[in-house]
Amino acid sequence: MPAIRRSEPARLNVGAVRVPPAVAIEGLTKAFGRGETQTLALAEIDIGLRPGTMTALVGPSGCGKSTLLRVIAGLEAPSTGTIEIDGEPPEAIKRRGEIAVAFQDASLLPWLTVHSNVALALKLARRPVDDQGIRELLTLVGLQGFERAKPAELSGGMRQRAAIARCLITEPRLLLLDEPFGAVDELTRRRLNVELSRIWEGRGTTGLLVTHSIQEAVLLADEILVMTARPGRIATRITVPLPRPRTGRQLNSAAFHRTVEQVAAALGIDEDEPVTLAVAT
Ligand code: ADP
Repeated sequence: MPAIRRSEPARLNVGAVRVPPAVAIEGLTKAFGRGETQTLALAEIDIGLRPGTMTALVGPSGCGKSTLLRVIAGLEAPSTGTIEIDGEPPEAIKRRGEIAVAFQDASLLPWLTVHSNVALALKLARRPVDDQGIRELLTLVGLQGFERAKPAELSGGMRQRAAIARCLITEPRLLLLDEPFGAVDELTRRRLNVELSRIWEGRGTTGLLVTHSIQEAVLLADEILVMTARPGRIATRITVPLPRPRTGRQLNSAAFHRTVEQVAAALGIDEDEPVTLAVAT
């Protein structure tokens, strides 16, 4: 897999006034269905995401992490409660194309090249297609030379890099990541984690990451929200004490291991068990 270029692309940061938003969620509940078949997915969620920080949501499978992300993205309506992104409902920032969401399945269009998949995000946001900007961003995520490749010609990790580039090309103010590396192998995932934190840092973006991996949460996030089993509530908020920029070396630091243990304990995971949560629902 090609290495990611170390330098930041000048064009993507110059001139733009980057003001990351605050996200405030109050009294949020979300139920699916009605009557006896009703599922209460989220209960009494009161959280804030600080501007320009990355927050990770961890919790048992089925506790409502993806639902919470989808509600913040304006893809699901809450049953009760409010979500405000800089004082506006998600629909307002969504309409302006200022939210980007990446899912586990990279969901690239298979008949389009990598370049065209990224260009499509600009077209959908009714922005001019900036070919040079796309090339620079694809280089930053390590896909130089693969601009004309179709998704089927790429590895899983490379498809996720393309999906991240597609998210970032519109310079979103709010970046929502739902298990973005859930489908790639563990070693590639580690590398992508370190690369994503470098790409994300300093972009003026508020981020939310849903993940099953405690290490991924600790490496990428500033704050970790640990959720209870369904109906999901926020059980604990843990601040990650690692400095930025995050590097692969921090994976070996005492602070990293201490925080992983703290999150595992909050999740009720035995220290001797693997720290990646089971994916089965
Ligand atoms: P997680 O991301 O933590 O694994 P989800 O947010 O996907 O959990 O799901 C939380 C709960 O809500 C689960 O019980 C799931 O089955 C249910 N759920 C999610 N989406 C829907 C839906 N569209 N219709 C009915 N139930 C749903």
